[in-house]
Amino acid sequence: MHVLLVASEFHPYSKTGGLADAAGALARWLARAGVQVSVVTPFYRMVQRKAPTLQRPGWRFAIPLEDSLVEGEFHVAHTEPNLRIWFVEQPEFFDRAELYNEGIQDYPDNAERFVFFSKAAVLLARYLPDPPQIVHCHDWQTGLVPLFIQYQRTTTVWKNPPRTLFTIHNLAYQGWFPPSVWGLTNLPDSWFHLESASHFGRFNFLKAGLCLADFLSTVSRTYADEITTPEFGCGLDGLLGRRRSDLVGILNGVDYGEWNTSNNPALAYSFGPDALDGKTEIKKALQSELGLPVLPECPLFSNISRLTWQKGCDFLYEALEALLPDNSFQFVGLGNGDPDLETALSELASRHPEKVAAHVGFNAALAQRLEAGSDFFIMPSRFEPCGLNQMYSLRYGAIPLVRATGGLEDSVVDPRDDANTATGIKFHEPTAAALAHAVRKALALYENPEAYRFIQRNGMQADFSWERRVREYIRLYENLVVV
Ligand code: ADP
Repeated sequence: MHVLLVASEFHPYSKTGGLADAAGALARWLARAGVQVSVVTPFYRMVQRKAPTLQRPGWRFAIPLEDSLVEGEFHVAHTEPNLRIWFVEQPEFFDRAELYNEGIQDYPDNAERFVFFSKAAVLLARYLPDPPQIVHCHDWQTGLVPLFIQYQRTTTVWKNPPRTLFTIHNLAYQGWFPPSVWGLTNLPDSWFHLESASHFGRFNFLKAGLCLADFLSTVSRTYADEITTPEFGCGLDGLLGRRRSDLVGILNGVDYGEWNTSNNPALAYSFGPDALDGKTEIKKALQSELGLPVLPECPLFSNISRLTWQKGCDFLYEALEALLPDNSFQFVGLGNGDPDLETALSELASRHPEKVAAHVGFNAALAQRLEAGSDFFIMPSRFEPCGLNQMYSLRYGAIPLVRATGGLEDSVVDPRDDANTATGIKFHEPTAAALAHAVRKALALYENPEAYRFIQRNGMQADFSWERRVREYIRLYENLVVV
């Protein structure tokens, strides 16, 4: 079986969020399970700094974008057995400071950039000497790939074209553009309609993928249900409801090679479910590093997040503001994104310097220390397709306190769901009051070391490994190929 993964970010070379982690780990674990994996991903500036040894010169190509012909080059890297990564080099499009936007401003030519990238991916799928049986696309940046494949399947002679799987990592990002952008596809206007990329008068890249991929998946079972409802469907719930029998939810896994509590170069001390001294040392070092009083007995909560409405940090900070004066705990927030939320986080820390530390920015090394040094990890998302941090925090012994939605619902067990297998605390309403109530429960739990340790240990022993997840993907690929 040969699978081509098409992803606009791919850990460890490029990343803005969980998509990169998921695509990177899926590729590696599929390869380790014996699947031939090719990945196609842009050659961003941040990739150039980290790229493995590349075969140069690469494979040059030219792609039509409306009336222009744009040149590009594929560079391939063989990073481990069964895994080839095809980087798409096109300096004007990808040699930039960021991936999609700078500040809150999207790059104005994102349509050109990702039409080009999608056409390059289809070129690879079609002309690789060993063509893939499956093309597996991820999120809106690759939504046009199933459309281009479907077009070529029906209008040209393509012997054994691949089957397509489209995975939704986050339905809220759809890639909306004015309909005039359709010209970049170089497809006939008759292909722009309500069963392809036309959506409320706009050109919607994600919708093209949802309509034209042979099969769909998303990253948790609960989110697969949620997105067929108006509350979570982002205007696509009708379409997803109609395709419900072609849509499955497969939870993302954790790369325990990287998110590992022993002999991890990112952590100064090792620890495990039965040896927690190292965790206490990390906590003390973290408190000192962040300028908080070094109090190993004081419960430490943390949150690591893109600062967006989705993640619920607005009502998190509101809840903390209400709780901090009368309760003894510390909180560390790490995140960046919406400038108003960045300010709200910084202001929370300046109002409560003895109890709150804020780090505005993206800092992967600090993220590891935070998960390891915290007693609780708060994830108050309004919606959460899968979420990774709650699974990292489980392994790192930071009991997750989550809103019961999407992958958070599927990966955390509240004592009310099952007291014996409980791993965290859930709350339901996306409000400061509901979250504050959950924090109070966490504080009460911390007061009872035996109960706290029981839940913490359950979480540390939970297995969200990719080895298990890739089996589900392989089954899906096999079913797709035989249909
Ligand atoms: P999403 O993909 O919606 O941002 P996930 O929980 O699925 O959320 O994945 C987020 C990933 O990005 C995790 O690996 C998390 O640690 C990381 N991350 C997010 N924000 C930051 C930050 N400011 N600094 C370091 N890592 C971050």
